[in-house]
Amino acid sequence: MGAITEDAILAALRTVRDGERGDLVGLGMISGVQTKDGHVAFAIEVDPARGPALEPLRRSAEKTVEALPGVLSVSAVLTAHRAGSRPAPAPAAKAGPRAAASPAANRGAIPGVAAIVAVASGKGGVGKSTTAVNLALGLAANGLKVGILDADIYGPSMPRMTGISGRPTSHDGRILEPMERHGVKVMSIGFLVPEDTPMIWRGPMVMSALQQMLRDVNWGTLDVLVVDMPPGTGDAQLTMAQQVPLAGAVIVSTPQDIALLDARKGLNMFRKVDVPVLGIVENMSYFCCPNCGHRAEIFGHGGARREAEKLGTEFLAEIPLDIAIRETSDGGHPIVAAEPDGPHAKVYRALAARVWELVGTGEARRAPPRIVVQ
Ligand code: ADP
Repeated sequence: MGAITEDAILAALRTVRDGERGDLVGLGMISGVQTKDGHVAFAIEVDPARGPALEPLRRSAEKTVEALPGVLSVSAVLTAHRAGSRPAPAPAAKAGPRAAASPAANRGAIPGVAAIVAVASGKGGVGKSTTAVNLALGLAANGLKVGILDADIYGPSMPRMTGISGRPTSHDGRILEPMERHGVKVMSIGFLVPEDTPMIWRGPMVMSALQQMLRDVNWGTLDVLVVDMPPGTGDAQLTMAQQVPLAGAVIVSTPQDIALLDARKGLNMFRKVDVPVLGIVENMSYFCCPNCGHRAEIFGHGGARREAEKLGTEFLAEIPLDIAIRETSDGGHPIVAAEPDGPHAKVYRALAARVWELVGTGEARRAPPRIVVQ
């Protein structure tokens, strides 16, 4: 169709006012306008302190654009910007000074840790932790100094997957020394609380546990800290994503879940808090028969690549369903460590290289917010 232009959208948004302050475009609040086949998306940058009070404004912006001829759907998202960071209002606010405005800039960085990358999934059991540990080992195999933070506080799996047991020590009774194995530093609540202890954490306790594992640990100098996020995209995950100064997020999904939109939810969650999504990893992508080596695409293959394209994010890797991956990660010797020259290690190392490239070039940090048009 191509009838609807960014100018038309901005013109419509000039008629939407943020109370007495002025119109959305004049105030420089609109960014990331995207249109595709009649579907429109944009972000409204707001002061986080005003957050929920602005829902009516968001809706009215959506409605206004929806009324334009040729528009089929509109998604407007509120995104937080650092209070007072915006210079003179941009008349035709396009992407705007996103990097400076990102709330990530407000979340205190961890001294000595160059980049923090989250590994997340829409739901449990898709291989998020397996991917996190092998990505971390892949980054280390590529010569980087790496740590793993198991933020899956309800179901920590890093003790099992790294084969580490025992308790972390502390020299001063306050800062914990991380555990270390396979050349990476590891911290998990599982080292502090036995795995079979039922953990009924109240929200604030979870947050303080996470903050402690992030900040009260002697991580030393790291190129990258890989954070294994709790599964799902609820409030708890959202808060965590906000609490950690993330350089980017990798979404792990299986082919079926991609179809079921779980990956989309993951994507949207990070976009909501302005964390760049580096891309999608399709796990259990296809099955390699251990006997004959035949490749069977049980779940229908290629869906993730198409979906990633649709969502405007990168398709980072496809990892086969292979018993060797399960046995090694569940046995404490993830495949990248167990078979460093094998085909799976190669895939994880390539994934690691691409993730590092995206983070290291700062591309991830500079990228304007990508908004899902569906
Ligand atoms: P999540 O962190 O998403 O809950 P896990 O990483 O714990 O998922 O994986 C769930 C189970 O699936 C584990 O037993 C793990 O070893 C296994 N698994 C994960 N990825 C693969 C794979 N590509 N091939 C075979 N088994 C896998």
